[in-house]
Amino acid sequence: MYFDNRPCDVCGSEVRLKAHDSSTPLRGPDPDGTVDERVCTNPDCASHEDGGPQA
Ligand SMILES: [Zn+2]
Repeated sequence: MYFDNRPCDVCGSEVRLKAHDSSTPLRGPDPDGTVDERVCTNPDCASHEDGGPQA
């Protein structure tokens, strides 16, 4: 099983990588430099808040 993502920068919980919106097929690197969205598995983590820190 491929598991290479760092733990959450905010709370240290496991982070899952969520691909960007599938309605926008990506070819090559994202121009913005964001490949996958990091989603913390801790529902109480501050990274889930609007404008909060990134997981
Ligand atoms: Zn977190």
